[in-house]
Amino acid sequence: MPRDLFLMMIKHFYRKPPTMSKVYFKPITGKIKSCDVSPLARELLETFLEREKIVPEKKIPLKLHFGERGNRTYLGPENFSGIIDYLKEHSIESCYMETSVLYGGERFNREKHLKLAEDHGFTQLPVIIADGAHGEEAVDVPVNLKHYRFCSIARELAEAPQTLVLSHFKGHMLAGFGGALKQLSMGFASKGGKMAMHIGIKPKIWNFLCKKCNLCVSRCERKAITIGKHSFIDHEKCIGCGACFSICQHHAVSVLSLSSLWGTLFHRSHFREKLMEYAYAAHHGKKNIYMNFALSITAGCDCEPRPMIPCVENIGIFISSDPVAVDTACYDAVAAKGKSFKGVEQLAYAESIKVGSRQYELIEI
Ligand code: SF4
Ligand code: SF4
Repeated sequence: MPRDLFLMMIKHFYRKPPTMSKVYFKPITGKIKSCDVSPLARELLETFLEREKIVPEKKIPLKLHFGERGNRTYLGPENFSGIIDYLKEHSIESCYMETSVLYGGERFNREKHLKLAEDHGFTQLPVIIADGAHGEEAVDVPVNLKHYRFCSIARELAEAPQTLVLSHFKGHMLAGFGGALKQLSMGFASKGGKMAMHIGIKPKIWNFLCKKCNLCVSRCERKAITIGKHSFIDHEKCIGCGACFSICQHHAVSVLSLSSLWGTLFHRSHFREKLMEYAYAAHHGKKNIYMNFALSITAGCDCEPRPMIPCVENIGIFISSDPVAVDTACYDAVAAKGKSFKGVEQLAYAESIKVGSRQYELIEI
């Protein structure tokens, strides 16, 4: 018998069955106000910690999304009052933590992002933008996976031993759906990491838009930018951190090209695999807790600056220490209501690289 075939048979027969992860669930049916969600979220967190015998760290950031201006279905701060009270009562230091996005708008850099968080009422805790003023604060986490050897994670999140990841479960244009894994990947990544997942190319300067202000030069740690008659970025030096893209107010730094657009539109499974490799980087070795709110479930994401109508009625709140299990439980619950989001293959990929398990035991409280 050929040696490879023999080894394959051994692997097959001795393959470990996937582990079963516990997902705790608080059902919510019908319309509910955010202030009434708050005590239920607290009860679920307390039950989970108690039954799983988890001793929380002394400092736990709350990772969430402040919602794009104009969006009305993101999770508002009233949902989290009970959780914040619980942390305070147990002398656990906390803060709201988020990263800036790659595209323009009010979540583009720290200054604008802080203003948006305040305008949306996230004032009960200090707000920390984990990747710095312009996305320059990052840590390269080694992963050695199919698409990446390193993933660029926002420094404050990379350094936190335990994060409470609060996610709104809903659809997403590119990822198919967004929950704990999407938060872990795109949400924990630095601007450079986001760029690497979205397009995998280095930025370019559009000379016809460049005002020669040199702001980008002052931000570029790698001295990769030359501003002049023909401004350009030296891609040998550029590490794709995104700081120049973020700082340029004239939209002269571009991350768009035909090849990147093609890749984003037609190779979504690669995009989703890349997301999961970033989720691995953000999850591996941490004691994170993942709480998904399957409420006001929309087909679009909270980053879309427009009101949206939910496509599925409210389901409830899920919590687990396994981000794959908690997302799978939400995905299944939404599918049981007749709405199958795209992107289910990312759960299998996440399981294959050991981010977590698709097998879960649902424990209703
Ligand atoms: S910040 Fe923008 S406009 Fe200013 S020099 Fe750089 S590319 Fe040109
Ligand atoms: S040129 Fe590259 S390394 Fe320099 S700021 Fe822009 S993305 Fe970062």
